[in-house]
Amino acid sequence: MNTILRSAILCMPLFCMHHLTFAQKNIKFSWPDGKEAAISLSFDDARFSQVDRGTALLDSLQVKATFYLVPAAAEQRIDGWKKAVAAGHEMGNHSLFHPCSGNFEWSRDHALENYTLDSMRYELTESNRRIEKMLGVKPIVFAYPCGQKFVGRGVNTKSYVPLVADMFITGRGFMEETPNDPTYVDFAQITGIEMDGKDFEQLLPMIEDARKKGQWVVLAGHEMGDGGVQTTRLTMLRKLIAYMKDPANKIWVAPVGEVSSFIKSTGARHF
Ligand SMILES: [Zn+2]
Repeated sequence: MNTILRSAILCMPLFCMHHLTFAQKNIKFSWPDGKEAAISLSFDDARFSQVDRGTALLDSLQVKATFYLVPAAAEQRIDGWKKAVAAGHEMGNHSLFHPCSGNFEWSRDHALENYTLDSMRYELTESNRRIEKMLGVKPIVFAYPCGQKFVGRGVNTKSYVPLVADMFITGRGFMEETPNDPTYVDFAQITGIEMDGKDFEQLLPMIEDARKKGQWVVLAGHEMGDGGVQTTRLTMLRKLIAYMKDPANKIWVAPVGEVSSFIKSTGARHF
């Protein structure tokens, strides 16, 4: 069935019944302090600009974010990352070698197609060990490099979501299209929405929709700066943070681990 036809069917009233939000289904869930939605800011790869420029902005505006580290990169800015830990930012695991599909030519030496669940487990364990040794904190949250969740090829392909579920409290994807429903989300596959290259005004409609639905938006970025490839603009962040911190907008801003722990503590789940 083609995509347009399928979308049309999904939008018929009977099918839309399955897409109601938790509020409409009377599932008891409330964000803390009367908030209407939650937003987590997350940044991947331990790019240098994150501690060279980004954390100073976040700290000046008193916002705590989640950083998913690749140890080899973080080890080149150890003092910056130690400061980030001291400021209360959350340190997550983003693997050891950042394996993605070998269709990315730069990932050929560490292509997911050539991985096994055992080699992935080793890599995630080793990454945690190095981060803990460097910063004194052991990551409990993970982000899938490139948002890709498989190892192997063809009939031998396996998902490594169960491995992430076993080792971490959350696993975050990338370039996804919907925020998370706190009463439904699988914590091993929380969605990540790209904020690189976007203006605040581009993100706002999605955030306002999330407020109406009581969702959890996890934004994902890479470089933190003025512009360029895979860059979350500091001008956008300033506007976004001003919006999020305006009490009138009723947004709870917290790192990924804190939000997921809160959701779990409420027990308001479908299953
Ligand atoms: Zn990455």
